[in-house]
Amino acid sequence: MNKIPLSKPDINEKDIKSVVDVLRTPNLSLGPRLIEFEKRFSNYTGRRYGVAVNSGTSGLHLCVKSLGIKEEDEVITTPFSFISSANCVLFERARPLFCDIDEETLNIDAEKIEELIGPKTRAILPVHIFGVPCDMKTICRISDLYNIKIIEDSCEALGAEYKLGERWKKTGSFGDASVFAFYPNKQMTTGEGGIILCDKSNIAEFASSLRNQGREEGGKWIEHIRLGYNYRISDINCALGISQLERIDEMLSAREKVAFSYKERLSELDEYIKLPFYGDPVRRVSWFVYVIRLKGKVADSREKILGVLREKGISCSSYFQPIHLQKFYREKFGFKPGDFPVTEKVAKSTIALPFYNKLTEGDIDRIASTLRNILRRV
Ligand SMILES: *Cc1c(COP(=O)(O)O)cnc(C)c1O
Repeated sequence: MNKIPLSKPDINEKDIKSVVDVLRTPNLSLGPRLIEFEKRFSNYTGRRYGVAVNSGTSGLHLCVKSLGIKEEDEVITTPFSFISSANCVLFERARPLFCDIDEETLNIDAEKIEELIGPKTRAILPVHIFGVPCDMKTICRISDLYNIKIIEDSCEALGAEYKLGERWKKTGSFGDASVFAFYPNKQMTTGEGGIILCDKSNIAEFASSLRNQGREEGGKWIEHIRLGYNYRISDINCALGISQLERIDEMLSAREKVAFSYKERLSELDEYIKLPFYGDPVRRVSWFVYVIRLKGKVADSREKILGVLREKGISCSSYFQPIHLQKFYREKFGFKPGDFPVTEKVAKSTIALPFYNKLTEGDIDRIASTLRNILRRV
């Protein structure tokens, strides 16, 4: 039986042509595609400025720097995430203060943020995990009340929306700075890449200088006015991004369709599994991955279930291992099991199933029936 991958980028002939077209020009980096991609992407999200970089992680790092977060400052964030949302704080020797998650949305439990705020707290870094918007109403209120910044990690949530007051707003439009990522498993890809969005010109200019070796806009190539990095993204990558963004709505609906097909087939396994969060009156999900949770006793057999799924040619994973329990976080901060009980409970029970635009009904049938057979036997 053929193997079903966990994720797969959706690349068409138009994408390929736009990449090849760049190769016929002399502008492989810092060229017109970069500017166009930044403009189109910031428009899509409703932000004034976009600074494209070579990864989501670089983008997060530059947000931390651009908002002036430094040694000993504290940033409140979630332990249930991809590791770079906390690492970016460590890059600047600041301290991530973890806040446990809400068991439904799997996002930072906004009601628990305030108790963590102290004199050194500079920012909240919410992550819209698995494409589900965080409680931005509460987070924005806290940010205003205590005058602390918001760095929005929207790397998994391209196209997701949150209703604030009467208005639906896209994730990535709330933070003082926000970040998207374009690794091949994301909703759209540039191969590798990311982008920082903001509304203030000074943040955009600073991030843009840091990305390009500390050069100043319009300055000399060999003049560096600050310590910078090479976080540039090439025009080749940006051309792919432009082409992908042109059909983002189509790609997002295809993903949503896959999520609903899964729901149809997996609902009958209700006694064994909890389906992912599908949205509520203030949240529209942008489907990034499809993560189910094992309920009750079957959760004890997760490793075995993952093993059997893989044996049957179905790729799967256990998203995520809590950040605070990763080896170097334990060593550096003394975290231990039990510190963030909701995160740990959820993390032990998850199974990410194959998920991408072009997952066929036939594949979904096969995945669902394989899972059914395994669950009824463990
Ligand atoms: C993908 C992702 C990133 C950035 O990843 P890169 O591989 O550096 O582009 C950051 N945060 C989260 C939550 C992610 O899922």
